[in-house]
Amino acid sequence: MKETVESSAQEAQKLPIAVILGLEEQADGEWAHLRSMQIAALEKFTNLRIASQLLAGLTIVALYLPTIAVHWLFIWFVALCIANIRGFFQTRELTAAEVGRGKAPALTKSLHAPILNGIVWGGALIGFGTSGSEAAHMTVWALLMLLILGSMMFFALSPLATLVFGAIIGVAAAISFAMVGNYTLMAISVLYIGMAYRVVVDSARTNLAARLVEHGVQEKDEVVSLLLREFEENEADWLWQIDTARRVRSISPRFAYALGCDQSEAEGKPLLELIAGESWETGKFATSLHDLAELLKHRESFSNQIVQVSVRGENKWWELSGTPMRDERDNFLGFRGVGSDVTEQRESSEKIAYLARYDTLTALPNRMQIHEALGEALRYADQWRTRCAFLMIDLDRFKAVNDSLGHLVGDKLLAQVSSRLQEIVGQEHLCGRLGGDEFAIVIRDATDRDVVERVARQIIDDLTQPYRVDQHTLYVGASVGSAIGPRDGNTVEEIMRNADLALYRSKDEGGGEHFRFEPYLHQSADERRQLESSLREAMERDELLLNFQPVVGAHDEQVVSFEALLRWNSKEHGFVSPGKFVPLAEETRLIVPIGQWVLRQSCMEARNWPEHIKVNVNVSPEQLLEPGFSDEVVSALSDSGLRPERLEVEVTESIFLRDASVAREALEQVMALGCSVALDDFGTGYSSLGYLRKLRFSTIKVDRTFVQGAAQGSAESIAIIRAVVAMAQSLDLTTTAEGVENADEAELLRSLGCDKIQGFYFGRPMSAPDARKIFLPKDDLKKRA
Ligand code: C2E
Ligand code: CA
Ligand code: CA
Repeated sequence: MKETVESSAQEAQKLPIAVILGLEEQADGEWAHLRSMQIAALEKFTNLRIASQLLAGLTIVALYLPTIAVHWLFIWFVALCIANIRGFFQTRELTAAEVGRGKAPALTKSLHAPILNGIVWGGALIGFGTSGSEAAHMTVWALLMLLILGSMMFFALSPLATLVFGAIIGVAAAISFAMVGNYTLMAISVLYIGMAYRVVVDSARTNLAARLVEHGVQEKDEVVSLLLREFEENEADWLWQIDTARRVRSISPRFAYALGCDQSEAEGKPLLELIAGESWETGKFATSLHDLAELLKHRESFSNQIVQVSVRGENKWWELSGTPMRDERDNFLGFRGVGSDVTEQRESSEKIAYLARYDTLTALPNRMQIHEALGEALRYADQWRTRCAFLMIDLDRFKAVNDSLGHLVGDKLLAQVSSRLQEIVGQEHLCGRLGGDEFAIVIRDATDRDVVERVARQIIDDLTQPYRVDQHTLYVGASVGSAIGPRDGNTVEEIMRNADLALYRSKDEGGGEHFRFEPYLHQSADERRQLESSLREAMERDELLLNFQPVVGAHDEQVVSFEALLRWNSKEHGFVSPGKFVPLAEETRLIVPIGQWVLRQSCMEARNWPEHIKVNVNVSPEQLLEPGFSDEVVSALSDSGLRPERLEVEVTESIFLRDASVAREALEQVMALGCSVALDDFGTGYSSLGYLRKLRFSTIKVDRTFVQGAAQGSAESIAIIRAVVAMAQSLDLTTTAEGVENADEAELLRSLGCDKIQGFYFGRPMSAPDARKIFLPKDDLKKRA
């Protein structure tokens, strides 16, 4: 710091006289600034100079009034006035033209006034001085020396005028003294002027040097504070500076490093060119860069401006602060400030911001963003009197994939689901993940009433297509619930809750459907609660009963077993479908006592049938997870006296969902008793083949959907049934085809190799007494059905 101040003082000492006087220009920008200071000083004392000149002029007039003719004195004084008026305007013009430019040549233009003045005063010395008393002559000379001294004092910064004036006066004085023969005074006046010349130049130099230093200190003060800030805040900060043309100046090593080039390479280049990268050529600046350019253009100070820059082809983020530099006359000189590379912070904060708004697994907007988008859509709908829509999507049977094949496969499946969803909604709507296997879509403008149905339909269709994950082919479905804003709710929460109710309805109906929110759904939510409380009492009130559906051999069409199917005839709700109350019972764990009852009841009833007829009892995963399930079976068998071989437990793949080992252990204990286990609804789950290795099932029940598919000629369904049959045969299992409704279907399934058939064609679920009647002699089963 100290060094720089000193060096600018030394620099001033070396300045050539012509430069100090303003006859020659110094190229340096700092110097231009000093020129401006010189002109400013000229202007500052102009009035003082004119006043002293006129005062001195009046003194002369008074001095010579007795000896010189009045008209001469008058003419002279007018000439003095003219010279000074000229001087006044000249200085004004000069400063006006100078503002903001600080160019030296203008200084020489300011010489008209001192020359004119010199001539007028020289005239007085020669004209009046030589014709009056010697004392008066001396007075004029002394007065002029006083004026020169004053000029030296006040115009120290711009000595040219003083020198010109002084030189003319010196010559005139020498002539006037020579004319009266006073050679001593002639010599003194010449010497005086000579010495004055020296003093003027030296003091001008010293003065300028002082100003340079002062200016330097002021500038350095700013730099010091900036450097301190740099030091304190961040080692990576740098100083930057640009001139009026926004070219990089006095580039620091750190700044050069940030720019990715040498100091000399960058010096003098436009800042924007250095940081704009390719966009410098195309002119398509990044917004932040554009903003920076605007700030610089408006010469406003700014702080912590985040700018996206391109350095050597690499994208970086800079934080820039800048202050316009101005001289004391408020002339704009450029910008200076500090900058730092915040790419890392920016990237990590971007990442944090990203994480807060996006789901990491699927890269879809997360719940928070969905929430925001829905709020935005509601405001929009309210403002423009339009409608927005909210769709909630839940995957059917996703849990089975996740639990059986593991989270890795589940995650991959979700990623595929999300990309399908994204393809459907495109840029038009917002699609996000609410969590788990729940997704949502915000449709901002749903004025077109069909749009919701269309999107929902497409979602269900597209998501139902098989997925290929690793070596697995997976099938999941989708259920959709939708609500319209503001019709179905004024707040985000309300809309989401209502869409959820609609979704629930869709799930309730078995999935794979779209349901719109209807006000009665609130009612059905209430209903559900009522249903639940009724179900809690159903057993005590004796509202539950069992139906039995026959299962026949595929070839001889003889009954081999009955499947016990639960029925609920509620006092409050009438007949309730098991599709509705069984899931409710499972959710509320009421299925545990109910299932226990079913088991006991089934075993009891089976005692009424011939010895070779089995009974199939559906068992929920909840029951298997309950400790002591096998004890229940033991007690049901012993209380009824049913041989264990006659009991077949039906479980679905969902038993492998949660704690598979617990369920497996329970089933193994049951099998150890001599009971058999059937895998129900086969094919609607996922890694079907894998399950078969996990447990020694005795029967695979092929789900009705494949039977119906095969009946309708679906090659895929036929292929699946064939594969299942082949596999079952190789594992020594039997296969049961479910949901066979006519002779053609029965024939088809027989030809495909199924061992047993169950369905309306051979018998609907029937009451216990009806089931018993089947075994009465000569009773033809088909006729009864
Ligand atoms: P599931 O175990 O697959 O039972 C077979 C279902 O298919 C029964 O419906 C039956 O009536 C129906 N079905 C049989 N043949 C045909 C046919 O030819 N065409 C058609 N369209 N349907 C046919 P249900 O009785 O409504 O039972 C539905 C589900 O409720 C059952 O599916 C089972 O998962 C569950 N469920 C029934 N009883 C019990 C039970 O005691 N305990 C448990 N945990 N679940 C039960
Ligand atoms: Ca079943
Ligand atoms: Ca089934």
